[in-house]
Amino acid sequence: MADNHADFIVLGAGPGGYACAFRAADLGRDVVLVDPRATLGGVCLNEGCIPSKALLHAAEIIREARHGGDWGISSGPVEVDLDALRAKKDDIVGQLTGGLNGLAKRRKVRVVRGIAGFTGPQSLEVDGTAWTFEQAVIAVGSAPIRLPGWPEDDRIWDSTAALELREVPKRLAIVGGGIIGLEMATVYAALGAKVTVIEFMDQIAPGADAEAVRILHAALEGDGITIHTGTKVTAVKATKSALTLSCEGGFAGDIKADTAIQAVGRSANGALISAEKAGVEVTDRGIIPVDASCRTANPAIFAIGDVTGNPMLAHRATHQGHVAAEAASGHAAALDTDLIPSVAYTSPELAWAGLTQAQAKERGIAHKVASFPWAASGRNLSSGGGDGLTKLVYCPDSHRVLGATLVGRNAGELLAECVLAMEMGARLEDIALTVHAHPTLSETIAFATERALGTLTDL
Ligand code: NAD
Repeated sequence: MADNHADFIVLGAGPGGYACAFRAADLGRDVVLVDPRATLGGVCLNEGCIPSKALLHAAEIIREARHGGDWGISSGPVEVDLDALRAKKDDIVGQLTGGLNGLAKRRKVRVVRGIAGFTGPQSLEVDGTAWTFEQAVIAVGSAPIRLPGWPEDDRIWDSTAALELREVPKRLAIVGGGIIGLEMATVYAALGAKVTVIEFMDQIAPGADAEAVRILHAALEGDGITIHTGTKVTAVKATKSALTLSCEGGFAGDIKADTAIQAVGRSANGALISAEKAGVEVTDRGIIPVDASCRTANPAIFAIGDVTGNPMLAHRATHQGHVAAEAASGHAAALDTDLIPSVAYTSPELAWAGLTQAQAKERGIAHKVASFPWAASGRNLSSGGGDGLTKLVYCPDSHRVLGATLVGRNAGELLAECVLAMEMGARLEDIALTVHAHPTLSETIAFATERALGTLTDL
């Protein structure tokens, strides 16, 4: 291939882009991967999923240490060396991004640093250098939404700044009680900040099952986090001594904070790549519409990940990346599922996939609910777990699982069994008759199905 001609070019090296590039290389394509960052991995590895999970693990260590007394174990007050914690997080990120570099090299994927923008249906520029291509994949992701009318101030952070761990503010206000808001609340509360979460909707983690969310809400409050739902920030004033957030709705009044995090969602980056020059449609919200094979309006160009809209989740992007690489290379491939699991890695974790009880009701879908409280789980109690719940929504006729929500320790890991059950059309009986090891948290899923079938002996 000529130096500036690509058989297959991928714009963006996040979990969608690198997975797509690697899959295409494995299918025999000559691949170029473009990204402005010094390291591969995009937001997820560099300033999202991975650093946040490292900090959440640190938060869990702190919580465990503080509760050691319940088990007759004491080791003095917990002290956090912020520099060492930051270095540990950065080291983990470095290991993973370095690993990706190695994987790219072994696949002979050419990595080009720079910002790409289209100049025509089969041409683009990377930092001013012209390129042509046979096929391209847009995987340019999303960026944090900035609330209008807020002052410019270093004490106002987005998720990227929050994960830099610059300091632990005494008073931290978090606007947005979605996944990022709740995960950052968990981290900074454990580190000693007095955290207040302000959520616009009438529950945190809007869209998740209300009963499970109540358990999470109570646990977060139990950890000293103040939560105001149904509350809108109407004005923000920055003075030398504090930020003042004026609120109305569920909480009316002023909240004074040393730092505020905006965590009100992300917007797709589709408008940043001159896609119109390539005949690729972009909505006014920066989203690039695609079909199930991730094709855009230009048959030579595909799009994957956050830039294709919600749900903006790394695992969806990765699957779309594989689909795009395969479809572009002449294979029959499509993302033919709506089952994209969601996990908030809070303490306890909240995990869900498929229909919630409320959604089934709203959509008039015949359903029943089977649940199992974790207070009756031997493994949960014996490992110091708090309140938790496993809840399945199922079809009363076929007994197929339509949705699952779990709240409790490691709920995110447990969800996979439920997603597999749904993907394979498993019936409640399939799960109930599958022998689950005792004592495990996974038993709560089997117990929920046994409860629905009337065979449960553990309640
Ligand atoms: P989100 O959409 O999950 O949550 C944003 C929250 O802010 C919502 O609850 C919304 O009601 C609220 N909100 C919006 N405007 C508001 C306002 N003016 N005042 C108060 N509240 C307001 O978005 P996020 O938490 O910012 O996360 C961004 C994206 O990244 C999401 O797609 C999320 O799924 C993804 N993400 C996923 C994970 C994970 O999988 N564990 C972790 C972090 C982020």
